[in-house]
Amino acid sequence: MDTDVIVIGAGLAGLQCARRLQSRGHDVTVLEAGDAVGGRVRTDLIDGFRCDRGFQVLNPAYPAVREWIDVSALKMQKFGVGAVVNTAEGTSTLAHPLRHPDRALATLRSKHVPVSDVLALIRWIGPALLREPRAGKTAPHDQMLSTSLDRAGLTGRLRRDLLDTFLAGVLADSSGGKSAHYVRQLVRWFALGVPGLPQSGMQALPEQMFGSLTDPVRLNTPARKLKETADGVEVTTDNEVFRSRLVVVAVGPQHVAELTDQPSPKTHGLTTWWFRASEPLEAGKFLMLDAAGDGGGPAGPVWNTAVISEAAPSYAPSGEHLVQATTLLDRPDGLAEESAVKRDLARLYRTSTTDWEVITHHVVPHTLPAQPPPLIERRQQRIGDHTLLAGDHRDTGSIQGALVSGDRAARSATEFLARG
Ligand SMILES: Cc1cc2nc3c(=O)[nH]c(=O)nc-3n(C[C@H](O)[C@H](O)[C@H](O)COP(=O)(O)OP(=O)(O)OC[C@H]3O[C@@H](n4cnc5c(N)ncnc54)[C@H](O)[C@@H]3O)c2cc1C
Repeated sequence: MDTDVIVIGAGLAGLQCARRLQSRGHDVTVLEAGDAVGGRVRTDLIDGFRCDRGFQVLNPAYPAVREWIDVSALKMQKFGVGAVVNTAEGTSTLAHPLRHPDRALATLRSKHVPVSDVLALIRWIGPALLREPRAGKTAPHDQMLSTSLDRAGLTGRLRRDLLDTFLAGVLADSSGGKSAHYVRQLVRWFALGVPGLPQSGMQALPEQMFGSLTDPVRLNTPARKLKETADGVEVTTDNEVFRSRLVVVAVGPQHVAELTDQPSPKTHGLTTWWFRASEPLEAGKFLMLDAAGDGGGPAGPVWNTAVISEAAPSYAPSGEHLVQATTLLDRPDGLAEESAVKRDLARLYRTSTTDWEVITHHVVPHTLPAQPPPLIERRQQRIGDHTLLAGDHRDTGSIQGALVSGDRAARSATEFLARG
């Protein structure tokens, strides 16, 4: 055998799996199709602007991040916990009352926050806030997100102007069809943490993990074929055949069926536009949500936008302003043209965007696994005598889920190798 374990894919799941196995003394070869580690967590540095490949944030409240990541080394830059809501009547900032006590009164008195909705929100998320919800094999009584919000009585403006739009952007899914159990977990972590961006971009997260590997990752090396043999596996790449006792397939959901006999889980996607704005903007460190559409939701293609350089100054050269705008691929205008997106941003920021320049634009069709109810939080990873499957699609679609999945696979691999 060339090695104990081959890990295919150097996203967060593959990296966590490899470093856990190496720390236990196992020989691990990591094969990565891309030109760097990180998978869905990559950052492009363009003319001094840091543009993540799809707007995303790191929530330090994730238990896996607290346990396995040196967050202080990432030098996090924090967003405001809340959102600026845009309606035809104007914009208002709704902020987490405990994180932003100076805004608590205004938030609680806002027309977007009726008391009946606050009570319904407490009914919906309260138990999850008190104790981390565990799905076990299958979440009991799980429902579609939209159904569970309806059943909790969360049907007023807080839902229409804030929650639905915020969650659609976070989940890359405007249908409300995701598992309510999964979304409750995410909302719990949002309530407990202050999400932010590392000083050198989201890619600093996988790079930190990569830095603790003892052996290099083979970049630009896609696995083309995987075959189980009597005593292990053979993984064929363009130039070599690798042999090991076990393989961990840690590819993204869209690639699962290329290497295994398992179906590729369905996914949802979004696009992120990155603009250089010509002047300072007033949205501050909060995400802006558009609720100016008829019956709620956005009136244009942009579901959320943020002046990233306000929250994360290192993302732009000094004196410059970086704005992200997110559209959803499950909407007819998900692939709106630059001119339409700029027009929409002019409406949202109430300023001219004519001089704004596009820095780059990322279309990410496989942002997150679909995860409809019932949530199966710890999916079976063993799919062959010598093959394990890892990735966010085996746990929960998130940085948390990817890390847990990689770690779980490492534990199973260690048990397997110990059996001799
Ligand atoms: C735009 C966007 C926004 C997001 N926002 C958030 C957020 O705010 N908060 C949050 O918690 N999560 C967010 N996520 C989700 C989070 O980034 C993912 O859940 C996580 O990164 C998934 O990691 P993974 O290792 O499971 O998969 P991936 O990152 O997809 O890694 C799989 C790796 O396998 C490699 N690979 C594929 N096929 C092969 C092959 N044949 N051979 C070798 N290598 C192969 C790929 O190149 C890739 O590097 C977001 C994701 C995106 C894209």
